[in-house]
Amino acid sequence: AAGLTLQSAIKGKPDSTVIIVPGQPALSVTYKDLVAETASFQQKLAAIGITKASPVSIATVNSYEFIVSFLAASWQRAIAAPLNPAYKQDEFEFYIDDVKSAIVLVPKGAYQSASPAVKAAQKFNAAIAECYWDATKKEVALDVKELGQLQGKPQQPVLKPQPHDIALVLHTSGTTSRPKVVPLSHRNLTRTMQNIQQTYQLTPSDRTMLVMPLFHVHGLLCGLLAPLLSGGSMVVPPKFSASDFWRDFVAHKANWYTAVPTIHQILLKNPAPSPLPAIRFIRSCSSPLSPTVFHALEKTYNAPVLEAYAMTEAAHQMTSNPLPSVGKRKPGTVGLGQGVEVVILDEAGNAVAQGKEGEICIRGENVTSGYLNNPAANESSFTRDGYFRTGDQGKKDADGYVIITGRIKELINKGGEKISPIELDNTLTRHPAVSEAVSFAIPDDMYGQDIGVAVVLKPGARLTENELKGWVADKLAKFKVPKKVYFTDVMPKTATGKIQRRIVAETMQKQEG
Ligand code: ATP
Ligand code: MG
Repeated sequence: AAGLTLQSAIKGKPDSTVIIVPGQPALSVTYKDLVAETASFQQKLAAIGITKASPVSIATVNSYEFIVSFLAASWQRAIAAPLNPAYKQDEFEFYIDDVKSAIVLVPKGAYQSASPAVKAAQKFNAAIAECYWDATKKEVALDVKELGQLQGKPQQPVLKPQPHDIALVLHTSGTTSRPKVVPLSHRNLTRTMQNIQQTYQLTPSDRTMLVMPLFHVHGLLCGLLAPLLSGGSMVVPPKFSASDFWRDFVAHKANWYTAVPTIHQILLKNPAPSPLPAIRFIRSCSSPLSPTVFHALEKTYNAPVLEAYAMTEAAHQMTSNPLPSVGKRKPGTVGLGQGVEVVILDEAGNAVAQGKEGEICIRGENVTSGYLNNPAANESSFTRDGYFRTGDQGKKDADGYVIITGRIKELINKGGEKISPIELDNTLTRHPAVSEAVSFAIPDDMYGQDIGVAVVLKPGARLTENELKGWVADKLAKFKVPKKVYFTDVMPKTATGKIQRRIVAETMQKQEG
């Protein structure tokens, strides 16, 4: 078989709706429009010299122009390199330098106001173009402001992508170390698209509320690309807004969404829509979903909640809990491998016995063939059998459901006793006064490491450090009782709502002085 690409994997019927951008008026786009617009944008890129392997950075919020420019870059055999538009200049400089962007696409007005992305692009001599929906001309504009390194480059032919071309580079979240650059091919991406379509049985009648950012794999693969393969559609606000979420969901007839636990929790704090729309399923991914939130979601929204497990290197999804018609959902687990082989290996690379903990390792066509410019990480990340080491610790239950017990690099090592911060977080959040809890290692003279926990209390709740330690002591072994509790009003999080234990630990210890 020839293999799919981001061009051949767009499967919707020409006249069916694919994208709705809420607004006054809302923008509604058919598959025919999307394909024509992407082809036309591809020509604009080729005209200024973008060609095979040119890195094209896209620094715009979720939008029609993001989707068109992303697809057009990949069709032109170039490499899309989406960036969080909210980065500060230093961050843009880091990422633009790291991926060697040939061009940086920014929103309308960004050049005039010398936005951080523009200044960073100038520093590295990347071309700069404003990219936006021109409602008068009814097209996605590519308004080139500076040609940078593309100056003098001849117009390029319009190309056709091949399955092994790199279509996308993204950085990992940088939870455990400096963010690593992950190249993903059309083949990697289309395999995940197929896996996700299968897991959730996505069809043309499904419409997702896409609120995860498109500059990470979660939003890009599950929110955008899998629905394109399924012929389905999506509602695309610029970003998640608690107050607009259900209004847009109902007004534009969405029937499912995927998000990080933080977003589910924010939604639960707001009133549910009344009457409730029919929600086929709610997917949770990217951070552990506590069983408490799982049950609250299912009850509040009368929909199955499917927790999945994903990472950048796997082009997003590895495992997921199944739809009710397929199998059982098990809260506290991330479900079963979905088109991806999942094994639990010991340090030597041998399979552990069922139920025993080890490193979660994966193999599949979705997995990157290796980090860019990082031979050391590549050397340590693949086993001799070609499994990718996720760096996550876990086990399988008797039915093969994967339970993540922690990150190998985040395990708290208290004098040789390994403590899973996730287990401790879950125990702490079960306390009625606790809203959020994050556990981490703190330096300790006696044990090398001991346990620190950052805790956000529920509004109006009161709790002392000793009361909380007592709660843990009642439920877990004594060595798992935290040494230090840091009460805080806000938990530091990344743009995608991810908890970075490293950052939480640093912030708490700094606040302490
Ligand atoms: P870095 O690799 O730079 O340290 P990162 O691993 O956080 O950062 P991502 O690729 O964004 O970067 O995230 C993948 C990780 O997210 C997984 O390895 C896993 O630790 C975590 N994760 C994803 N889904 C879940 C989930 N459902 N439950 C618990 N953890 C999850
Ligand atoms: Mg990682």
